[in-house]
Amino acid sequence: MKLKILGNNGPYPAPGGACSGYLLESDGGDTRVLIDCGTGVLANLMAADALDGLDAVLLSHLHYDHMSDMLPMQYALQFRPRPRPLPVYAPATPEPVRALLKCPCFDLWPAEDIVIGEMKVAFSPARHPVETNAIRVECDGARFAFTGDSNRDPLVELFCEGADLLLADCGLSGADHTPAAPHYSAELCGRLARDTHAKRLLLTHFNPKYDPADLLAEARTAFPAAEIAELGAEYYI
Ligand SMILES: [Zn+2]
Ligand SMILES: [Zn+2]
Repeated sequence: MKLKILGNNGPYPAPGGACSGYLLESDGGDTRVLIDCGTGVLANLMAADALDGLDAVLLSHLHYDHMSDMLPMQYALQFRPRPRPLPVYAPATPEPVRALLKCPCFDLWPAEDIVIGEMKVAFSPARHPVETNAIRVECDGARFAFTGDSNRDPLVELFCEGADLLLADCGLSGADHTPAAPHYSAELCGRLARDTHAKRLLLTHFNPKYDPADLLAEARTAFPAAEIAELGAEYYI
Protein backbone atom coordinates (compact mmCIF):
# COMPACT_ATOMS: atom_id res chain seq x y z
CA MET A 1 0.00 0.00 0.00
CA LYS A 2 0.98 3.61 -0.42
CA LEU A 3 -0.02 6.29 2.10
CA LYS A 4 -0.03 9.95 1.06
CA ILE A 5 -0.42 12.63 3.71
CA LEU A 6 -2.98 15.21 2.56
CA GLY A 7 -3.29 16.90 5.96
CA ASN A 8 -1.54 16.49 9.30
CA ASN A 9 -2.86 19.31 11.50
CA GLY A 10 -5.61 19.51 14.08
CA PRO A 11 -7.79 21.02 15.35
CA TYR A 12 -6.99 23.87 12.93
CA PRO A 13 -4.46 24.16 10.10
CA ALA A 14 -1.00 25.69 10.30
CA PRO A 15 -0.23 28.41 7.71
CA GLY A 16 -0.31 26.61 4.36
CA GLY A 17 -1.29 23.41 6.14
CA ALA A 18 -4.30 21.13 6.22
CA CYS A 19 -6.12 19.09 8.85
CA SER A 20 -6.56 15.32 8.97
CA GLY A 21 -6.53 13.60 5.55
CA TYR A 22 -4.80 10.41 4.42
CA LEU A 23 -4.94 8.74 1.03
CA LEU A 24 -4.33 4.99 0.89
CA GLU A 25 -3.71 3.26 -2.43
CA SER A 26 -3.17 -0.42 -3.15
CA ASP A 27 0.10 -1.42 -4.80
CA GLY A 28 -1.59 -1.99 -8.14
CA GLY A 29 -3.38 1.37 -7.90
CA ASP A 30 -6.80 -0.28 -8.27
CA THR A 31 -8.15 0.69 -4.83
CA ARG A 32 -8.00 4.19 -3.36
CA VAL A 33 -9.51 5.20 -0.03
CA LEU A 34 -9.48 8.60 1.66
CA ILE A 35 -9.38 8.53 5.46
CA ASP A 36 -10.72 11.79 6.93
CA CYS A 37 -11.34 14.96 4.98
CA GLY A 38 -10.50 17.95 7.16
CA THR A 39 -9.83 21.58 6.31
CA GLY A 40 -7.60 21.90 3.25
CA VAL A 41 -7.68 18.23 2.28
CA LEU A 42 -9.86 18.65 -0.82
CA ALA A 43 -7.35 20.98 -2.50
CA ASN A 44 -4.55 18.52 -1.77
CA LEU A 45 -6.67 15.64 -3.06
CA MET A 46 -7.24 17.62 -6.27
CA ALA A 47 -3.51 18.35 -6.52
CA ALA A 48 -2.90 14.61 -6.29
CA ASP A 49 -5.51 14.10 -9.05
CA ALA A 50 -7.16 11.52 -6.81
CA LEU A 51 -10.79 12.63 -6.41
CA ASP A 52 -12.20 10.86 -9.47
CA GLY A 53 -10.46 7.57 -8.65
CA LEU A 54 -11.61 7.34 -5.04
CA ASP A 55 -13.43 4.15 -4.06
CA ALA A 56 -14.60 5.34 -0.63
CA VAL A 57 -14.19 7.92 2.10
CA LEU A 58 -13.83 6.80 5.72
CA LEU A 59 -14.42 9.46 8.38
CA SER A 60 -12.96 8.48 11.75
CA HIS A 61 -15.30 10.95 13.46
CA LEU A 62 -17.31 14.06 12.78
CA HIS A 63 -15.23 16.81 14.35
CA TYR A 64 -14.78 19.56 11.78
CA ASP A 65 -11.01 19.11 11.48
CA HIS A 66 -11.73 15.59 10.16
CA MET A 67 -14.72 16.22 7.92
CA SER A 68 -15.23 19.90 6.98
CA ASP A 69 -13.95 19.51 3.39
CA MET A 70 -16.68 16.91 2.78
CA LEU A 71 -18.99 19.90 2.33
CA PRO A 72 -17.30 21.41 -0.76
CA MET A 73 -16.42 17.88 -1.92
CA GLN A 74 -20.15 17.32 -2.35
CA TYR A 75 -20.21 20.27 -4.77
CA ALA A 76 -17.17 18.87 -6.60
CA LEU A 77 -18.92 15.51 -7.02
CA GLN A 78 -21.92 17.24 -8.61
CA PHE A 79 -19.66 18.59 -11.34
CA ARG A 80 -17.62 15.42 -11.86
CA PRO A 81 -19.87 12.54 -12.84
CA ARG A 82 -18.78 9.14 -11.57
CA PRO A 83 -19.81 5.68 -12.80
CA ARG A 84 -21.28 5.12 -9.32
CA PRO A 85 -21.75 7.30 -6.21
CA LEU A 86 -18.85 7.73 -3.83
CA PRO A 87 -19.64 5.83 -0.61
CA VAL A 88 -18.84 7.58 2.65
CA TYR A 89 -18.53 5.69 5.92
CA ALA A 90 -19.04 7.79 9.04
CA PRO A 91 -20.25 7.52 12.63
CA ALA A 92 -23.97 8.17 13.13
CA THR A 93 -23.34 10.97 15.62
CA PRO A 94 -23.26 13.93 16.27
CA GLU A 95 -26.49 13.84 14.25
CA PRO A 96 -26.51 17.55 13.17
CA VAL A 97 -23.07 17.12 11.57
CA ARG A 98 -23.89 13.75 10.05
CA ALA A 99 -26.98 15.33 8.46
CA LEU A 100 -24.64 17.60 6.44
CA LEU A 101 -23.32 14.57 4.52
CA LYS A 102 -25.56 14.23 1.48
CA CYS A 103 -23.69 11.62 -0.56
CA PRO A 104 -24.50 7.96 0.08
CA CYS A 105 -23.45 7.66 3.68
CA PHE A 106 -23.18 4.42 5.61
CA ASP A 107 -22.95 3.96 9.33
CA LEU A 108 -19.57 2.87 10.40
CA TRP A 109 -19.93 -0.06 12.78
CA PRO A 110 -17.12 -0.87 15.15
CA ALA A 111 -16.22 -4.57 15.07
CA GLU A 112 -17.74 -5.08 11.62
CA ASP A 113 -15.16 -5.36 8.86
CA ILE A 114 -15.88 -4.05 5.40
CA VAL A 115 -14.17 -4.80 2.11
CA ILE A 116 -13.40 -1.97 -0.31
CA GLY A 117 -11.80 -3.29 -3.49
CA GLU A 118 -8.60 -5.00 -2.40
CA MET A 119 -8.70 -3.52 1.12
CA LYS A 120 -10.10 -5.12 4.25
CA VAL A 121 -11.10 -2.34 6.65
CA ALA A 122 -11.90 -2.61 10.36
CA PHE A 123 -12.97 -0.07 12.98
CA SER A 124 -12.72 0.05 16.76
CA PRO A 125 -14.03 2.65 19.21
CA ALA A 126 -11.48 5.21 20.39
CA ARG A 127 -11.58 7.49 23.45
CA HIS A 128 -12.64 10.98 22.40
CA PRO A 129 -15.53 13.38 23.26
CA VAL A 130 -17.62 12.24 20.25
CA GLU A 131 -18.15 8.83 18.64
CA THR A 132 -14.73 8.08 17.13
CA ASN A 133 -13.05 5.08 15.57
CA ALA A 134 -9.55 3.83 15.13
CA ILE A 135 -9.20 2.41 11.61
CA ARG A 136 -7.18 -0.57 10.38
CA VAL A 137 -6.60 -1.43 6.74
CA GLU A 138 -5.09 -4.66 5.45
CA CYS A 139 -4.03 -4.92 1.82
CA ASP A 140 -1.17 -6.33 -0.25
CA GLY A 141 -0.07 -8.37 2.81
CA ALA A 142 0.51 -5.23 4.90
CA ARG A 143 -1.32 -3.75 7.88
CA PHE A 144 -1.94 -0.03 8.42
CA ALA A 145 -3.43 1.28 11.67
CA PHE A 146 -4.67 4.79 12.51
CA THR A 147 -5.62 5.75 16.05
CA GLY A 148 -8.09 8.44 15.00
CA ASP A 149 -8.34 11.05 17.74
CA SER A 150 -7.96 9.28 21.06
CA ASN A 151 -6.43 9.24 24.48
CA ARG A 152 -4.96 6.02 25.86
CA ASP A 153 -7.38 3.16 25.54
CA PRO A 154 -6.83 -0.61 25.93
CA LEU A 155 -9.15 -1.29 22.99
CA VAL A 156 -7.13 0.97 20.70
CA GLU A 157 -3.95 -0.76 21.84
CA LEU A 158 -5.32 -4.21 21.06
CA PHE A 159 -6.65 -3.01 17.74
CA CYS A 160 -3.34 -1.47 16.62
CA GLU A 161 -1.23 -4.53 17.49
CA GLY A 162 1.35 -5.50 14.90
CA ALA A 163 0.92 -2.66 12.42
CA ASP A 164 3.48 -2.34 9.64
CA LEU A 165 2.76 1.38 9.88
CA LEU A 166 1.00 3.06 12.81
CA LEU A 167 -0.34 6.59 12.27
CA ALA A 168 -0.95 8.14 15.68
CA ASP A 169 -2.68 11.23 17.02
CA CYS A 170 -0.11 13.30 18.90
CA GLY A 171 -2.44 16.22 19.57
CA LEU A 172 -0.80 17.10 22.86
CA SER A 173 2.63 17.54 24.36
CA GLY A 174 3.40 15.53 27.48
CA ALA A 175 3.18 18.70 29.57
CA ASP A 176 -0.37 19.41 28.39
CA HIS A 177 -1.63 15.85 28.55
CA THR A 178 -4.02 14.64 31.25
CA PRO A 179 -5.79 11.28 31.74
CA ALA A 180 -9.06 12.93 30.63
CA ALA A 181 -7.58 14.69 27.56
CA PRO A 182 -9.07 14.03 24.09
CA HIS A 183 -5.70 13.12 22.56
CA TYR A 184 -2.58 11.06 23.11
CA SER A 185 0.59 12.90 23.91
CA ALA A 186 3.58 12.48 21.63
CA GLU A 187 5.35 10.34 24.23
CA LEU A 188 2.27 8.14 24.60
CA CYS A 189 2.26 7.68 20.82
CA GLY A 190 5.81 6.39 21.12
CA ARG A 191 4.79 4.03 23.89
CA LEU A 192 1.80 2.85 21.87
CA ALA A 193 4.05 2.00 18.93
CA ARG A 194 6.55 0.24 21.20
CA ASP A 195 3.94 -1.74 23.15
CA THR A 196 1.96 -2.80 20.05
CA HIS A 197 5.14 -3.81 18.18
CA ALA A 198 4.61 -1.38 15.33
CA LYS A 199 7.27 -1.60 12.63
CA ARG A 200 6.96 2.10 11.87
CA LEU A 201 5.36 5.10 13.65
CA LEU A 202 4.16 8.30 11.98
CA LEU A 203 3.01 11.15 14.21
CA THR A 204 0.14 13.33 13.05
CA HIS A 205 -2.58 15.77 14.20
CA PHE A 206 -0.07 18.52 14.91
CA ASN A 207 -1.53 21.45 16.82
CA PRO A 208 0.09 24.56 15.28
CA LYS A 209 0.87 25.85 18.75
CA TYR A 210 3.63 23.24 19.07
CA ASP A 211 6.92 22.77 17.24
CA PRO A 212 6.62 19.32 15.60
CA ALA A 213 10.31 18.74 16.30
CA ASP A 214 9.61 18.92 20.04
CA LEU A 215 6.80 16.38 19.74
CA LEU A 216 9.03 14.11 17.67
CA ALA A 217 11.71 14.24 20.36
CA GLU A 218 9.12 13.29 22.98
CA ALA A 219 7.88 10.32 20.94
CA ARG A 220 11.43 9.13 20.31
CA THR A 221 12.05 8.70 24.05
CA ALA A 222 9.80 5.63 23.79
CA PHE A 223 10.12 4.73 20.08
CA PRO A 224 13.42 5.95 18.62
CA ALA A 225 12.34 5.37 15.01
CA ALA A 226 9.28 7.69 15.28
CA GLU A 227 8.77 9.99 12.29
CA ILE A 228 6.63 13.01 11.45
CA ALA A 229 3.85 12.42 8.91
CA GLU A 230 5.02 15.13 6.52
CA LEU A 231 2.39 16.97 4.51
CA GLY A 232 2.49 15.76 0.89
CA ALA A 233 4.85 12.88 1.61
CA GLU A 234 4.24 9.30 0.48
CA TYR A 235 5.02 6.25 2.56
CA TYR A 236 5.14 2.66 1.34
CA ILE A 237 3.64 0.09 3.70
ZN1 LIG B 1 -8.95 16.19 15.51
ZN1 LIG C 1 -11.60 15.09 17.25
